[in-house]
Amino acid sequence: MTGQQYGDEMPCDAVIERIYEFLDGELTSDVDAQIRDHLGRCRSCYPHFRHEEVFLRFLERRVQIEKAPPSLRRRIFKQLLDDEIARDES
Ligand SMILES: [Zn+2]
Repeated sequence: MTGQQYGDEMPCDAVIERIYEFLDGELTSDVDAQIRDHLGRCRSCYPHFRHEEVFLRFLERRVQIEKAPPSLRRRIFKQLLDDEIARDES
């Protein structure tokens, strides 16, 4: 990426704008590192990132759920819900 930047700091909107690409691993390693760095320090972006990550993990697991036989499917789904509830309570 070329052009002007705010020091080595990426602005919050730029991070949020790229969050899906980041989660999908579609960014160049430069941008990926910048976002990772920002999320490690920025308190306003981090909760957002966590939320998106949970959502993406749910989509990934859904593929497994669709392939699974009904009994297993139910177990995976229940485990996923339990995970979510545990996370909300902590
Ligand atoms: Zn931020």
